Amino acid sequence: MADTPKKIVIIGGGITGLSAAFYIHHDWPVSQNGLRPEVTLIEATETLGGIIQTQRQDDYVIEYGPDSILTTKSEGLQLVDDLGLSSEVVGIPATSRGASIWRDGKLRRISPQFPLGVPTDFRAWRESDLVNGWGRWRVWLDLMLPGDGRIARGEDASLETVVKKRLGANWFYEAVEPLIGGVYAGDPAKLSAKATFPQLADALRFHGSLIRGMKKWQQQRREVMQSSGVFERWPQLKGSSFFTLRKGLGHMIETLVTHIQKMGMSIQMGQRVTSVRKADHGYCVSTTTGHQYVADHVIVAMPNEKANAMFDLPFGKKPLLKRGDRASVANVVLIFDKSIVPALPRGSGFVVPRTEHLSITACTFTSQKWPHSAPTNRTMIRTYIGRFEDASWMNETDEQLVSRAVDGLKCVLGSGWTEPLEAIVNRYSCALPQYPVGHLDDVARLRTNLEVDLPNVEFIGADYDGVGIPDCVRAAKKIVQKLFTLYPS
Ligand SMILES: Cc1cc2nc3c(=O)[nH]c(=O)nc-3n(C[C@H](O)[C@H](O)[C@H](O)COP(=O)(O)OP(=O)(O)OC[C@H]3O[C@@H](n4cnc5c(N)ncnc54)[C@H](O)[C@@H]3O)c2cc1C
Repeated sequence: MADTPKKIVIIGGGITGLSAAFYIHHDWPVSQNGLRPEVTLIEATETLGGIIQTQRQDDYVIEYGPDSILTTKSEGLQLVDDLGLSSEVVGIPATSRGASIWRDGKLRRISPQFPLGVPTDFRAWRESDLVNGWGRWRVWLDLMLPGDGRIARGEDASLETVVKKRLGANWFYEAVEPLIGGVYAGDPAKLSAKATFPQLADALRFHGSLIRGMKKWQQQRREVMQSSGVFERWPQLKGSSFFTLRKGLGHMIETLVTHIQKMGMSIQMGQRVTSVRKADHGYCVSTTTGHQYVADHVIVAMPNEKANAMFDLPFGKKPLLKRGDRASVANVVLIFDKSIVPALPRGSGFVVPRTEHLSITACTFTSQKWPHSAPTNRTMIRTYIGRFEDASWMNETDEQLVSRAVDGLKCVLGSGWTEPLEAIVNRYSCALPQYPVGHLDDVARLRTNLEVDLPNVEFIGADYDGVGIPDCVRAAKKIVQKLFTLYPS
């Protein structure tokens, strides 16, 4: 009997699901008969990209969700390159790099020598006003304190446990927490160090000191970036930790979709998957529109607790992350007439420590960070609202959120920041997973259970292996590698 192609169903059309579909065909080893799997991607809504959504209008490129990709995690740039979008890559201009922390009525610059807020350079520390008083000096005790037995054994701990004891409470709350908490909009007392910022746990584990370990990590990262050829390819990324695309990250999604369709894969939109049941050979995937898809292999690239509900087997027993284990956040994009607002301070924006109780948690000077994203006579700013376990703002109207954003801005940048020409509010309910301590073990356990109870079903995406876009792409590529070995052509 002639070989028949394997049928793969991907559930979820965010960056994870789309990258998995793309790499199945892009990377699939071409065999003699060229037999590749048949791929169907099913998306519940009428739009692809999931959290990544870009609005392009007139001369504006407005990101609703993510606005940048880490340069140092290679899978983001690799995807852009594989999609043929290398010439579209934009770095942050040298004059707009670096962020500040708002504290005690002042914006305080974070030195590039403070990776994740850890001071790795004495001179930069001496010149910085990030932390004052005893807390400023206390930080160096890290070099003398004995190591932590649990961390040295490779056990997980919260970010707070890993950092606060080493650098002292002041430095932790004023310099580190706003940065690491900001990425997850989370609470470092609850977030797993190994799952969120493993470089911090590794610094302590392998170097007995955060300062020594992060200095080493920074050096190694610099060497890897130098030797990877990234800067020869994209000189604009030298010194820029993040990149975007000229037409926004939505361009990456549109190009993924074009490639996927050109490769002959099927994308079904507006169909919510309701169940995945074992069938004679493989699985039967049913959707709200009454369609049924037969699959040899199912890749589930959507939030975990919703995915769990689609299966009737007792695998995993309980969801990895519940709805309450996610932070709800909003951002408000404000567009001003450049001629009537004051000049922006240096840098790409600022973050606000919890202790400041400001109406916003962070702010990006978008038109300064990404000059291509707004006309030259406009200043575009994005303010952020909401943190884990602070959803007090969620019942507020859009008008109230805009007021919050403007109030926060006035407080930090001065009274000249009123009357935006336009304001766009984007809400993300339960969108940012909060990996608890032990998360990586939970994920490993879930996958072991899956292998027994639901062979050939994969759970990937932001709930499991990292929330950043490169993390999602890496997870997708890893599954594709697994498929190659399972189904050699
Ligand atoms: C506000 C915000 C800002 C961020 N900023 C950045 C940033 O600047 N840089 C960065 O690297 N990362 C950022 N992140 C994180 C990153 O954007 C996400 O982790 C990533 O996009 C998640 O992709 P995903 O494909 O795993 O999930 P999603 O994007 O959530 O996609 C899942 C898809 O599955 C679909 N789906 C759900 N249920 C079903 C069903 N039953 N049947 C079919 N389809 C279904 C959904 O409709 C959705 O399209 C940000 C996240 C947020 C919330």
